[in-house]
Amino acid sequence: VIEIGQPEHSVVTTCAYCGVGCTFKAEMRGEEVVRMVPYKDGKANRGHSCVKGRFAWGYTNHKERILNPMIRERIEDPWREVSWDEAFSFAAAKMRGIQKKYGRDAIGGITSSRCTNEETYLVQKLIRAGFGNNNVDTCARVCHSPTGYGLSQTFGTSAGTQDFDSVENTDVAMIIGANPASAHPVFASRLKKRLRQGAKLIVLDPRRTEMVDSPHVKALHLPLMPGTNVAVVTALAHVIVTEGLVNETFVRERCDWSEFEEWAAFVAQPKHSPEATAILTGVDPNDLREAARIYATGGNGAIYYGLGVTEHSQGSTTVIAIANLAMATGNIGRPGVGVNPLRGQNNVQGSCDMGSFPHELPGYRHISGDAVRDQFEALWNVKLNPEPGLRIPNMFDAAIEGTFMGIYVQGEDILQSDPNTKHVVAALSAMECVIVHDLFLNETANYAHVFLPGSSFLEKDGTFTNAERRIQRVRKVMSPKNGMADWEVTIALAKAMGLEMNYSHPSEIMDEIAALTPTFAGVSYAKLDELGSVQWPCNEKAPEGTPVMHIGGFVRGKGKFIVTEYVATDERTGPRFPLLLTTGRILSQYNVGAQTRRTENVVWHAEDRLEIHPHDAELRGVRGGDWVRLQSRAGETTLRAEITDRVSPGVVYTTFHHPDTQANVITTDYSDWATNCPEYKVTAVQISPSNGP
Ligand code: SF4
Repeated sequence: VIEIGQPEHSVVTTCAYCGVGCTFKAEMRGEEVVRMVPYKDGKANRGHSCVKGRFAWGYTNHKERILNPMIRERIEDPWREVSWDEAFSFAAAKMRGIQKKYGRDAIGGITSSRCTNEETYLVQKLIRAGFGNNNVDTCARVCHSPTGYGLSQTFGTSAGTQDFDSVENTDVAMIIGANPASAHPVFASRLKKRLRQGAKLIVLDPRRTEMVDSPHVKALHLPLMPGTNVAVVTALAHVIVTEGLVNETFVRERCDWSEFEEWAAFVAQPKHSPEATAILTGVDPNDLREAARIYATGGNGAIYYGLGVTEHSQGSTTVIAIANLAMATGNIGRPGVGVNPLRGQNNVQGSCDMGSFPHELPGYRHISGDAVRDQFEALWNVKLNPEPGLRIPNMFDAAIEGTFMGIYVQGEDILQSDPNTKHVVAALSAMECVIVHDLFLNETANYAHVFLPGSSFLEKDGTFTNAERRIQRVRKVMSPKNGMADWEVTIALAKAMGLEMNYSHPSEIMDEIAALTPTFAGVSYAKLDELGSVQWPCNEKAPEGTPVMHIGGFVRGKGKFIVTEYVATDERTGPRFPLLLTTGRILSQYNVGAQTRRTENVVWHAEDRLEIHPHDAELRGVRGGDWVRLQSRAGETTLRAEITDRVSPGVVYTTFHHPDTQANVITTDYSDWATNCPEYKVTAVQISPSNGP
């Protein structure tokens, strides 16, 4: 922290890193932050914070931040600083030129889960109303899109069921494919407190995470092989059904009974027994039985899950399997239970809520619905296209085919975050106009023709929605260093393209969102200021919001059981690539590190390492600290080795925070069958000693 004197005033705002959504008091001296103090009245954090939110805001002043717009005709040309007006005219002419030459659908855009709800809403509005198509997608495509699909199919709404307070009533917590101690630390602290009070912990994860090793916590760890989630969750269901542990009263009252019967007959088959499953997954059958019994009979059972569930070819299937498990045991619709996705980015829930998917308008309403479209058309004064647009991977494919030639990317480094980097490079290189709107010249900007400087969360007003559906205010604590907040940039770009958007403050954008989105109908800045935050749905029926969903009935009516057949990923190990790579995060870094690496503190600069089991390391002559070459069918990279029994034999693990690591050079093209969420968590690899990069 750079101490610059005593604070003169303070502003309450929301952390811009993870989906916990901690509230902070930014203590200010003039336009400079003196320190960030966790806010004791913050409903998500109650006065706590982690190292990222408290200290990692220094990137706002980093010397590499770009403050002036830049353009260039070709990506080989040097950047030329220009005025905002010239940048907008240049970008608009390019995008309109592409539409004239290739057709209306040849351009699109990507919203940011790091930006506010209001900014995200404006980007999708620009694309639908200004570009005239639905080619809008979001980085949730590559993280939690299966959550949206799986939970809407089974429960009727694309969000987690509980508030964080609910954990205080939990008797059994089952964590699947998540490591909240690193990725959602403030929630992890609340969970650990409950565990120390006696709640039980079950962890399904290929790696022995910090949660498993928490002091004074006795955890049951099921170290499954990467890619076998569906088999393990189905085996848990097998035990629950065959041992008579189903909550029949709940299922009869709340769910479709005939669908339940079909599902129960499916999971009861001998091929789903713990013994049969052990062969596929590597999990001890006794541990599987014990986990199922604890979850079904231990009182309030809550499931928390992360990207280790969603980023698989069966990501959506796993979310559905988890929902089945919760319904079968009656663990839905009251405090202490539920199905709770731990959202990665600060506003990934919000970006999905705001209509960032190509098939859905804000509030998860399908674009093909005439009545819904009528409502938007009346307020926006345009005719909307009823056809769903392109998802991110389809945009890349279409670019390579020569039919998608222009993209507006707000606040996401798609080159670093999306799978199969070579494919992304080919797509970006083929486009005639790439507009990057960001704080820094990120990797994607190497292929951009227009760079629009972005503003940090400290420089704008708006709202973020956290993992518990909590809408919280982001308050401007300093003027935008680049002269324009992100919402103003999108408005100006829209105007240059001929679409008038008239808002003088983000509160007016929220008023429009509330007018068009039933789950947000009761949300306003006045209410947020009065209550501190609200959890959607917030409307006439629930004027102060909804902490716990599906009380008394599911949003879709009857809860829907869906049969989930395990299908092995096409990414197979073999003699050339005998190990499975999976990935995760460390506490002090955030995603690709664009912000945390640019904060003045050496702690942020720890390198990504490859965790290898001692047996696999010895076989290959690798010692701790050695450089190793990590090769997959897609590519290769070089990392330092860390020898540890946190991972099982046959599994290796790394983080992906540093651009040099280039983890996505080696990831595959496989993706979730329903949503195209990439299968980042399973890559067949080989390792060998190396002399370094
Ligand atoms: Fe920010 Fe998440 Fe840390 Fe809270 S837990 S301070 S929201 S990074």
